[in-house]
Amino acid sequence: MAYHPLVESRYPLLAQAILAGASPQLRNMATVGGQPDARTRCPYFRDAAFACNKREPGTGCSALEGYNRSHAVLGGSEACIATHASDMCVALAALDAIVFTVGPDGTRQIPLRNFHQLPGETRTSKPS
Ligand code: SF4
Repeated sequence: MAYHPLVESRYPLLAQAILAGASPQLRNMATVGGQPDARTRCPYFRDAAFACNKREPGTGCSALEGYNRSHAVLGGSEACIATHASDMCVALAALDAIVFTVGPDGTRQIPLRNFHQLPGETRTSKPS
C-alpha cells in the first residue's frame, strides 16, 4: 500500500506513516483493516499485576506515576495516557479517512476520528 502509485502521489503522508511504522516483514503480514483495531500500546494494560483503568475501570493508571516514556504528551486524561498503536491511523485521521463496516444491521460509515474513543471514556475489551 505504501508504494501504490495513487497513495504515493495523492497521500504521501499516509505512505510515510506506513513506512515509518513498521519493518517490511511486519508490513507484509499486516492488514489495513487490522490497523484501526490495534490493541493499546501500554505495558501496564497487558500486565494484570498493575492497575489499569482501561483494563479495569476505577483501578487507577499505573502509567501516570510509572514508566511512561512512550505514553501520550497530548490528548490523554487523568484516567489514561495510552497512545494509539498505529502510525497509519494517525495519518488516516489527519486525512479525514472514513471506516466502512458491515454487521448484522447493515453497513456503516464511521469517520476514523470517531472510530476510537478517548482514554478514560469507556472500558474496552480485555487484552488478548
Ligand atoms: S495509560 Fe491507560 S492503558 Fe496504560 S495503565 Fe494507564 S489506564 Fe491502563
